[in-house]
Amino acid sequence: MTEKTETTAPATERQNKTDDANAIHRRAIAIDMHADTPQRLLDERVDLAQRLPDGHFDSLRAREGGLDAQFFSIWVEPQLFGGGGATAMKRADEQIVAVRALAERHPEIWQLATTAADIRRIASADKLAALTGLEGGYAIDEKIENVERYYKLGVRYMSPAWSESLSWAGSSGDEVGKTRGLNDFGRAVVREMNRLGMMVDVSHVSDKTFWDIINTSTRPVIATHSGCRAIANVPRNLTDEMIQAIARTGGVVNVIFYPEHLEPGWSEKKKIVDTEIADEVQRASEAEKGDAAHKKLARDRVRREEFAKRLPPVAVSRLVDHIDHIVKLVGVDHVGIGSDFDGVQSTLSDLADVSQLPNLTRELLRRGYSESDIDKILGGNMLRVMEANEGLNH
Ligand SMILES: [Zn+2]
Repeated sequence: MTEKTETTAPATERQNKTDDANAIHRRAIAIDMHADTPQRLLDERVDLAQRLPDGHFDSLRAREGGLDAQFFSIWVEPQLFGGGGATAMKRADEQIVAVRALAERHPEIWQLATTAADIRRIASADKLAALTGLEGGYAIDEKIENVERYYKLGVRYMSPAWSESLSWAGSSGDEVGKTRGLNDFGRAVVREMNRLGMMVDVSHVSDKTFWDIINTSTRPVIATHSGCRAIANVPRNLTDEMIQAIARTGGVVNVIFYPEHLEPGWSEKKKIVDTEIADEVQRASEAEKGDAAHKKLARDRVRREEFAKRLPPVAVSRLVDHIDHIVKLVGVDHVGIGSDFDGVQSTLSDLADVSQLPNLTRELLRRGYSESDIDKILGGNMLRVMEANEGLNH
């Protein structure tokens, strides 16, 4: 062996290690279950084919991050668009149209998908799959036939409630949700979703609604963007009993990337900062001359800047603590990822946008997860749940 070979060997080894994480990440089908980008498409008219200077998501960064499929959240904020009725439906429909336009305008990058088979096909063609889920059932306007209407528009999951309870489903985000579960109509909605093959999402629902969903659904249940209450004790997160119940349905907990739901104590600190900056946030809102959606953007801008200055940074290793917890509790077949990108005012320091997704794979490898485990976590588990909801493996 020449001296030259000896001195270059360690460098080559290091190179191979990096290649391993990157290669494993690229080979996997990565599916993010939740991003709020459709509101940006509507309210800010952003073009995802460009590299955007702000936010957490665009096509270029998604490609850099090795993403294969994105579930876009169709979110109707009840305070701005109503908890039902024509305005709520219009807001949902416009977001769906905006996601469809991605594939129409940029077919070289995006293709619409509704099934696991679509995702596999689109990923193997090296394109990005765009899917949709309803965050909150406000847009179904308390009409059972609207579940099928949204299914036909391509929507493949729905969480009954977002942060405000409905008459038929309690939320984890308000007082009334503390005692409200699903009523008869709510249970009929879940059965209709099961019949159609629309996944039921428990992120945001009240504890009571959670258990009513578990006791009603005949298909695997998912949480699209939640964490573990055992680590970060916030109402939005899942208890160990809930995680076990989801696993018993064959479902998946997709872990959120938002520090508030991952880092113990962060939520309490954030509440203090929110109180301290309340006047400044209000002033920004009043100074914004646009419509209600633009006033919200102005408020969020101030919160984002102040959170970055005043709240402690949280790293991807904390996200993997939640994944570890779920794996120890119910095994590697019941965990996935749901970033909540473009829906939060703070991100992990080393997973600050979709381009940094490989850092998650690097940390999983560092903790000893195998390639087949990582495949399952990044998207394989969700492909299985989609197929089960499609009725393919019943
Ligand atoms: Zn959410």
